[in-house]
Amino acid sequence: MTNDCLFCKIIKGEIPSNKIYEDDYAYAFLDINPSTEGHTLIIPKKHYKNITDIPAEDLSNFMQSLQKVAKGLLQFGNGLNIIQNNGETAGQLVFHLHFHLIPRREADGVSIGHWESKKNLDMNKIQENIKSLLNQ
Ligand code: AMP
Ligand code: ZN
Repeated sequence: MTNDCLFCKIIKGEIPSNKIYEDDYAYAFLDINPSTEGHTLIIPKKHYKNITDIPAEDLSNFMQSLQKVAKGLLQFGNGLNIIQNNGETAGQLVFHLHFHLIPRREADGVSIGHWESKKNLDMNKIQENIKSLLNQ
């Protein structure tokens, strides 16, 4: 827990939320600015700032909670996007690890996961750069 973290305050009940699920590892609540009906945020109970910050065992427990909530939300809509932003450049606004679970319905008018593909990239060089980072 950190004192000035918005999501830690939500877990503690100091800030109200529309909670839909809670267990030992995770807390899930409706996003205050929903992109679709049922747009949910799921967060680990412990404060971690992003996906690289959380220890493997906590992540494993948390992911099982996420899967449970995802199953329900998939029935609530008829598709589901899962988004997780890391860092300001990627659009992270709240620095307590969270996943967006976004139920989708046909013709809901939301565009997620579609992009214009970049042309003429040096794929082999990119591959080598990334592989060397993974081997560090
Ligand atoms: P991100 O850009 O991935 O960091 O997403 C942060 C999300 O937190 C945004 O979608 C906000 O709408 C959401 N949010 C911020 N404050 C609250 C709050 N008090 N209750 C619920 N969701 C919130
Ligand atoms: Zn926090």
